[in-house]
Amino acid sequence: NLTDKLERSFKILKGEGRITEINVAESLKEIRRALIDADVNYKVAKTFTDEVKAKALGQNVLTAVKPGQMMTKIVRDELAELMGGTMSDIHLEGSPAVVLIAGLQGSGKTTFSGKLANLIKSKKGRQVLLVAGDVYRPAAIDQLKILGDQVGVEVYTEEGSKNPVQIAENAVKYARANHINTVIVDTAGRLAVDEQMMQEIAAIKKAVSPSEILFVVDAMTGQDAVNTAREFNDRLDFDGVVLTKLDGDTRGGAAISIRAVVNKPLKFISSGEKMDALQVFHPERMADRILGMGDIVSLVERAQEQYDEEEARRLKKKLVKDQFNFNDFLTQITQIKKMGNLKDLASMIPGVGKALKNVEINDDVFKQTEAIIHSMTPKERENPALINGSRKQRIAAGSGTTVQEVNRLLKQFDDTRKMMKTVAGGMPQMAKMAGRM
Ligand code: GDP
Ligand code: MG
Repeated sequence: NLTDKLERSFKILKGEGRITEINVAESLKEIRRALIDADVNYKVAKTFTDEVKAKALGQNVLTAVKPGQMMTKIVRDELAELMGGTMSDIHLEGSPAVVLIAGLQGSGKTTFSGKLANLIKSKKGRQVLLVAGDVYRPAAIDQLKILGDQVGVEVYTEEGSKNPVQIAENAVKYARANHINTVIVDTAGRLAVDEQMMQEIAAIKKAVSPSEILFVVDAMTGQDAVNTAREFNDRLDFDGVVLTKLDGDTRGGAAISIRAVVNKPLKFISSGEKMDALQVFHPERMADRILGMGDIVSLVERAQEQYDEEEARRLKKKLVKDQFNFNDFLTQITQIKKMGNLKDLASMIPGVGKALKNVEINDDVFKQTEAIIHSMTPKERENPALINGSRKQRIAAGSGTTVQEVNRLLKQFDDTRKMMKTVAGGMPQMAKMAGRM
């Protein structure tokens, strides 16, 4: 993948004392090849490496920094610049504000519509109406209804109607009448760009004057993504791009070249099927991620957001006093699960992402632990020392595990408690503990 290749290209520079025309040329060639391999448009890759070269050669070589590190920094900054420099928010103007979702079939429009509704509702405190504008497949309407249910957002549908323009217009009227200030219109897509679809979505745009049009594209589509983006942009002049399925074995190339070719900012990245697997796009962080530095900032932010600070303080107190018990442990598991997909989180840690590429981690890792704890009596959870041999047998039977597994959990719990007592930090230690099970 791109990260590996870029890493290799930086190795070429390692050990070199300074950046010269020669060593820079060699690594630039590698970088260009890596970008093209990752489906970055040839011209974009060429322009990019030209700019990196100009920057690199113009630099005074700092004695404190190795040329490889300096190049990494230059490439990172340029990459971030190429993807948009700064992050941009979505425009929600008008009453109601209308957001139109466009893209090919299967790109992830409907899933994203649900996620965006969730985000706007919870983060911006707005009332949201989802509109089922894909009238061609009955299943599409049901799919949106299910997602709407999950995130607690009303879904506007017109059973039997085959006119998405009319539906969108009616939905806006409905929103206005019901004091809903945000309308998200999910639309139909074809497998490839086709004239009828383009006319239809252009007509929806004209009818409801969206304040934000988002073009949704599957990150795995590679080079084709650029052409599709261009055609949609010619017709719709969209405001931003949503890159989906970044949780897969992703080639970051699409992110880089779409931005460069249509000159529209990337606004969101979607990385999973759960409704909270949506991140606001940060160019610097994406650059870091592509370069393999890990998305630490996102990780920390996400952890902070989800982790109940009150709870953290309470646990810390208990830890210091050595009162941490299995009930607290269950609470911690719940907190960790709330943060979303574990693999998702783990992949943001530098060096870990790659190692986990082919490993399945999911919330099931906690199942056994939870089952064992649930089979203990409340007293035992508070004071595991009460658990004797015959109780261990009962707990194992009750949780469908073995006495050895119960013993293992008790031992780990004990070790961790000792460890945590010394660090008394909370969340990161728990994550570590979970990882060892
Ligand atoms: P639409 O045809 O553009 O509305 O696309 P859908 O939202 O129906 O998504 C198509 C398929 O991709 C579905 O199976 C989704 O569950 C899946 N999908 C959508 N977004 C993501 C994502 O970010 N990650 C993963 N892994 N799958 C996704
Ligand atoms: Mg759909």
